[in-house]
Amino acid sequence: MTRPERFRYFLDYFITYFPEPKTELLYGNPYELIVAVVLSAQCTDKRVNQVMPPLLAAFPTPAHLGVATADDIFPFIRSVSYPNNKAKHLAGLGRMLAEEFGGEVPSQLDELQRLPGVGRKTANVVASVIYNQPAMAVDTHVFRVSHRLGLVPKTATTPLAVEKGLVRHIPEALIPKAHHWLILHGRYVCVARSPKCGICPLAAGCRYYEQNVAPLLGVIEGPAKVAAKPKRSPKQP
Ligand code: SF4
Repeated sequence: MTRPERFRYFLDYFITYFPEPKTELLYGNPYELIVAVVLSAQCTDKRVNQVMPPLLAAFPTPAHLGVATADDIFPFIRSVSYPNNKAKHLAGLGRMLAEEFGGEVPSQLDELQRLPGVGRKTANVVASVIYNQPAMAVDTHVFRVSHRLGLVPKTATTPLAVEKGLVRHIPEALIPKAHHWLILHGRYVCVARSPKCGICPLAAGCRYYEQNVAPLLGVIEGPAKVAAKPKRSPKQP
C-alpha cells in the first residue's frame, strides 16, 4: 500500500465512524484550555481534569493568575507531573496574557510560543482546538501512531518532521480532527507497549501490521518467506 493510500484508509475510517472527535480535556474558554494543555504535558487528561476546577475557582482569569506566585499555584497542581515547573510557567503565563495580550489567548503560533510553558506542541493544540487552524500538534501518541500506520517515513525522527509529514497529506480542513483521531487511537487501541492489533479497525491499512503481524498470521508473505522463494529462471524464448 502506498503512503497516500494509507492516509486515505485512515481518514476514510475516522470520517465515517468518528466524524466529530473532541479533546478529552475539559475547558470552557481559551484561557482554561491553555492552562489545561500546559498542565497536561507528561500527565493524563484525567488527572488534569481533576485539578482544574479548584485551580480555576482560585484563578478564574489571566489577571488572577498573573498576580499569583508559583507558591500560590503549587498547592492546586501538586498532583500533576512536574508541579514546580508548571506552577512557575502558569504564573508567567497569566502575567504575560494579562500584560501583553489584554487577557486574551492569542491565535498566532509565534505569539503563543512566547508564552511561558508553551512550546510548539501546546501552541498547535490551542491553535487547532480553539481557532480551528490547520495545526498538527505531535505528542507521543501522534508520533507513535503515525509511524506504526506508515503515514510518515521511518526517517521522520523528530516531532517536527512528523508534523510536516502529516500536514503534507491531510486536507487542511481535516487536520484539527486528525490530531484528535491519532491521539485517541493511540490512547485506546494503538497503545505504546502492546498495540491491540487484533481488534484494530485500521489493521488493513497499517504498515506495522503488514510488516510485523500479518506475516506471523500467514495472511501475507513476510520478508522471510519472500527471501526463501526460489528465484525464477528467465523465460526462454
Ligand atoms: S494495526 Fe496495530 S500497530 Fe497498526 S494502528 Fe492498529 S493497533 Fe496500531
